[in-house]
Amino acid sequence: MPTVGRFAPSPSGRIHLGNILCCLLAWLSARQKGGRVVLRIEDLDTARCPARYCNQMLADLTWLGLDWDEGPLTGGPQAPYCQSQRTALYQAALKTLESQNLVYPCFCTRAGLHAASAPHRSDGQIIYAGTCRSLTPAQIQERARTRSPGLRLRVPPENWRFTDGHMGTYQENLSQDCGDFLLRRSDGTFAYQLAVVVDDAAMGVTEVVRGADLLSSTPRQLFLYHLLGLTPPEFYHFPLLLAPDGRRLSKRNADAGLDSLQSRMTPPEILGNLAYLAGFNPSARPRTAVDLLPDFRWDLVPKEDIRLPANLF
Ligand code: GLU
Repeated sequence: MPTVGRFAPSPSGRIHLGNILCCLLAWLSARQKGGRVVLRIEDLDTARCPARYCNQMLADLTWLGLDWDEGPLTGGPQAPYCQSQRTALYQAALKTLESQNLVYPCFCTRAGLHAASAPHRSDGQIIYAGTCRSLTPAQIQERARTRSPGLRLRVPPENWRFTDGHMGTYQENLSQDCGDFLLRRSDGTFAYQLAVVVDDAAMGVTEVVRGADLLSSTPRQLFLYHLLGLTPPEFYHFPLLLAPDGRRLSKRNADAGLDSLQSRMTPPEILGNLAYLAGFNPSARPRTAVDLLPDFRWDLVPKEDIRLPANLF
């Protein structure tokens, strides 16, 4: 089967080194197999992802030399490539899940969930305690008068295990480790977990390359593939880039953002340094994405988080 890779950034600001590494690895992994690359814009949260960030991201990826075959600007058979314009597909998938009696309305507020001493996942998210799982139709009607509900997927106490192309075997028990999860928020926005599965399947994606912070989303996504009768892709999760102080990269680390990098470095300098940190450039020598193709190998990429040295960028 021909390889189809993708990058799926959320344009909630200017891209930083973590996003660039993600796009570089996804690009190299697919291109090295002669595969195609899809670019999908994950802008479901339209308040956080205004259109100007999306346009900036397209310009930034182009500047870096990371091209795509299908996506915004290039178009393609699965257009539109912005999630904010694909809600009819998510709605159809939701209907399929509803027809299996697996979806229920949840009236809990985010503040309420955080205030209750609910167990937390290792990534800080709450494991939903099932408060609204067994509401009667009368209770639902009563609550719906004052609040519009989110929609949750009822998960079984099953272990979902998969072999990640980079990180090896990973498994979670859906009810113990994840809990019933949101498919649609109370404001009507579809949740990432549903949209990503619907889109990767619709776009014929055969390999997903993304940061290890999403490893723990994968069992939930595999469960959705199963319920929707879709074939899952291969997954490759790579270690996160950390700021020199060991914390996760964020807007605080202005030096790691393209705003700052672009004024100081060329694309081959940025990509060469990232490839050096990720194990497949023998020295911090400038390299274009195309130059790196023969040297890229997943087994060279570390499995532990990578701390950015203070003086490399
Ligand atoms: N949109 C997500 C992000 O920018 C990536 C989701 C994915 O790759 O599955 O973090």
